[in-house]
Amino acid sequence: MNKPAQSVDAHSVMFITPRPEVVMVEGQGSWLTDNNGKRYLDFLQGWAVNCLGHSNPGMIEALNAQAKKLINPSPAFYNEPMIRLSNLLTDNSCFNKVFFANSGAEANEGAIKLARKWGQLNKSGAFEIITFDHSFHGRTLATMSASGKPGWDTMFAPQVPGFPKADLNDLESVKKLVTDKTVAVMLEPVQGEGGVIPVTKEFMQGLRKFTKENNILLIVDEVQAGCGRTGKLFAYQHYGIEPDIMTLGKGIGGGVPLAALMASDAVACFVPGDQGGTYNGNPLMTAVGISVIEQLLAPGFLESVREKGELLSKELLSISEEFNLNGERGKGLLRALILNSDIGGKLVELARDRNPEGLLINSPRPNLLRFMPALNVSDDEIRHMCKTLRDLLKQVA
Ligand SMILES: *Cc1c(COP(=O)(O)O)cnc(C)c1O
Repeated sequence: MNKPAQSVDAHSVMFITPRPEVVMVEGQGSWLTDNNGKRYLDFLQGWAVNCLGHSNPGMIEALNAQAKKLINPSPAFYNEPMIRLSNLLTDNSCFNKVFFANSGAEANEGAIKLARKWGQLNKSGAFEIITFDHSFHGRTLATMSASGKPGWDTMFAPQVPGFPKADLNDLESVKKLVTDKTVAVMLEPVQGEGGVIPVTKEFMQGLRKFTKENNILLIVDEVQAGCGRTGKLFAYQHYGIEPDIMTLGKGIGGGVPLAALMASDAVACFVPGDQGGTYNGNPLMTAVGISVIEQLLAPGFLESVREKGELLSKELLSISEEFNLNGERGKGLLRALILNSDIGGKLVELARDRNPEGLLINSPRPNLLRFMPALNVSDDEIRHMCKTLRDLLKQVA
């Protein structure tokens, strides 16, 4: 660690966000290593993506085996991993049909198209999809328009029309927006980027009942909350309801670009020409997805996610009490610590830049820290993270 840090020349990389002057070169489990040999305890995991940590052996094996066998027969043909992963997802959910995509935003675009198509066929062209303030659904034009992030309505104006915004956990605010043009309501079971805000059971059940009675589809965006993150395979399973459409991303690929659009038979109304994509359902990514989902479904795995979630929750609560903060919230291993001032960004930088060992966390809102470790993070790593967090809070106090 006494060598001078290597400088980074990245002038040809398009600037879209400030990045620290290091290059990440290796990952193992909950640890990342940069080009200077510095290690980071990773409670970001590619933004809740690497659900099995870095360099998971099962994923590597699946990727290698499939790469040797068949990488891309074209989306005009079935391939084995595509079929197997579709079956795995439908066998373990309330949905009947799967369309694979390459990113969460693309899966959500598909959900929006599917709902609009269903509206054309069944509801005289109803196309409006009610979404929520502070929601996040992706960075394509339609998914930015669907998102409730402040400022996103004017950033690349004009918006894609048809996404009125309601308030989360407020059924009356949804009812007020319903017109004869309403085709669906779309929400994240736990708002991730919005600050880890779980949907209440009462709201989700009320929303399901109301949408059913009014012939409106219910779409859950589980790109962040799905695939074991909350301690169940899918977050909607906490609520005793069955949505009509679900989207998956992030965790389903464990780090490789894979996403999915899922629907019930009654709603899956695409006909040839409506939907497609060059890489969609390619065997290389779906083979990895099989390994990921099989590992999540291994006996005891989801239970251990719930236990680790409880440990993290307990530790964060005691930190909150110690430092007079405003508590913690979340579901499973998607959690947030609520600070008492806008020092989130500062803590994230201090954590990352610590020596000899860094810590990677995130601050989706200035008064909030978010934690999304690997689902197989160890109890010791959780405690280690919390000890570092205590040191940092003392440092800024
Ligand atoms: C990350 C995220 C998306 C977008 O996924 P990408 O793969 O970045 O396109 C959509 N919805 C939610 C809830 C997300 O967290």
